[in-house]
Amino acid sequence: MINPEYRAVSDHATAAAKARAQHGSWVLAGVYANSQTSKSVAAGIRAGSPSFPTYQPTGAFDAYAAPAGDRESVWVRYVEGAEPLPPFPDRMTVRVRHSDPAPSDLGVVTVTVTTRCPACGGPRGWDTVQPYPFQVGDEEYTADTWTNPCGHMDLYPHVLEESRTRQLPPPPAPKHIVEAKAPPQEMPQVGLILDAAREHRGMHAARAADLLEVRGFADDAALIRAEIKNRAGHLSAKQAATLLRDLHRSAHLSTDYQMGAAS
Ligand SMILES: [Zn+2]
Repeated sequence: MINPEYRAVSDHATAAAKARAQHGSWVLAGVYANSQTSKSVAAGIRAGSPSFPTYQPTGAFDAYAAPAGDRESVWVRYVEGAEPLPPFPDRMTVRVRHSDPAPSDLGVVTVTVTTRCPACGGPRGWDTVQPYPFQVGDEEYTADTWTNPCGHMDLYPHVLEESRTRQLPPPPAPKHIVEAKAPPQEMPQVGLILDAAREHRGMHAARAADLLEVRGFADDAALIRAEIKNRAGHLSAKQAATLLRDLHRSAHLSTDYQMGAAS
């Protein structure tokens, strides 16, 4: 069911009045046959062009053009007011569930897509993105979910297809995130265990420790064996991988910690 607020309005006077009444909310102002027209209309509205007197004065309205199915849409929002409105990003990076080429390859992939709903051109729920954990067999995954204010649902296969058709670079990170440390890459030890655990369902941590020892990660093998003892034997290989990842991650954040350094 499509939110009636996001249905087409017939003329700019109505769109402008509606947008003025809902300060900051995007309103569909028109649907056009080609993107050249929709882009010039959006630019005209933003620039306060005399061709669009209903959106005067200059700077009172924000506008953008976006595909809407096989048509082209123009959306406006009334921005004049004491409080500056937050910018509307043009891209969003999300984790989507994928299950191709074969269902056995099921997993999660991170993609960057436009913040405009492909069906109507309206804003996607880029500010409602939430983690969506799911389980397949004994594997745990986390994708993202969001709700589009227009009511059009984004299905994972469509989002995936969209990201393949139109590859976008990730949006620039907000300043406070740029300053934060990037998460470390997955460590080879963890990857080794997870690969083995994928092949051997219900693999015990003791086998993970053996595997690491053989592959030259004696310190990590010892860590896992100590933890098996701590937990009276109740530790799976996957839990051991998570434990190692957490330990190394906290070590990564601490400056005086040297992994494997004997004291
Ligand atoms: Zn929509």
